[in-house]
Amino acid sequence: MSWLSKIRSGLAKTAQQIRERLGSDVPETAVPVTTPSAGPAGVTGGRPLGLESFEALEDALLTADVGVAATERIVAAVRGDRNGSLRERVGRVVQRILADVSAAPEIGTTHHVILIVGVNGTGKTTTVGKLANLYKTQGRSVMVCAADTFRAAAVEQLAVWTSRAGVDLVRAQAGADPAAVTFDAVSAARSRGRDVVLVDTAGRLHTRANLMAELDKIRRVVGREVPGAPHEVLLVLDATVGQNGLVQAREFMTASGASGIVLTKLDGTAKGGIAIAIAHELKLPIRYIGVGEAIDDLVPFDAAAYVDAIFTEKW
Ligand code: GDP
Repeated sequence: MSWLSKIRSGLAKTAQQIRERLGSDVPETAVPVTTPSAGPAGVTGGRPLGLESFEALEDALLTADVGVAATERIVAAVRGDRNGSLRERVGRVVQRILADVSAAPEIGTTHHVILIVGVNGTGKTTTVGKLANLYKTQGRSVMVCAADTFRAAAVEQLAVWTSRAGVDLVRAQAGADPAAVTFDAVSAARSRGRDVVLVDTAGRLHTRANLMAELDKIRRVVGREVPGAPHEVLLVLDATVGQNGLVQAREFMTASGASGIVLTKLDGTAKGGIAIAIAHELKLPIRYIGVGEAIDDLVPFDAAAYVDAIFTEKW
């Protein structure tokens, strides 16, 4: 399946929910209007929408977890825009919101170090496996580091993923210092000339201060080994937890210095609008989306494809 089809099928539930809520009474094609209510003279476009359509739109967006603030922005923009169908108008403003944050992930340097952070259960370990596989299929040499040394099951899971992807895994004794394992992995990556190092970090420590201290130590260690590292800190968020995820994300953003988001489990929810809320609220780029449990179910986030997948049907 192409990545575009993966995005589309991953967002199918969200698209269906929106379609059902908006019904079929909304004009799809642009009908030129000349009535005063159509807006400034000379502007052609869709039939003026009734209040009901705006309410239905607001309802659909909120149910898709777009969030109150982003929904308000979208509805206001659509009200003030008379060009094209409702779908086109919504698509334009959503794309504007997403465009600010959907920078393409760039891996330019050698020994590009990426820390993967996030709460346990969000799909962090799976994402590390999927990323290892993605970079490998792009022709890069990859090294994975199991820095969550307290979760033996996570390390075993990572071992399965990395052997499936055919990449090296650096792991330590249970309970070992995560920064020490990370140091080993990064220096091994240097001596073996690996392009990318993926570090799976702990998702939960007793206190936030501990977590911050651990991530800080890992950052210092990799920065000493490879100038400029870590080049990216990817925060993994579970799309199915909806707006609660945003609170969690904010906490982690400060604690980890996250530079980008991986949004997982989009395939399991009709609340895929959370991507819009993230872009609007957190102003962090969404780098990848998880659209299934298989190793190749991770695709780079693309604003245009996302908008197309959600707002593609006639409504
Ligand atoms: P971790 O505790 O954060 O490391 O989470 P795991 O990587 O162990 O994932 C938790 C569960 O989420 C597993 O059952 C994964 O198969 C599942 N999962 C992860 N990413 C996705 C995704 O994109 N889609 C679906 N449907 N499931 C996912």
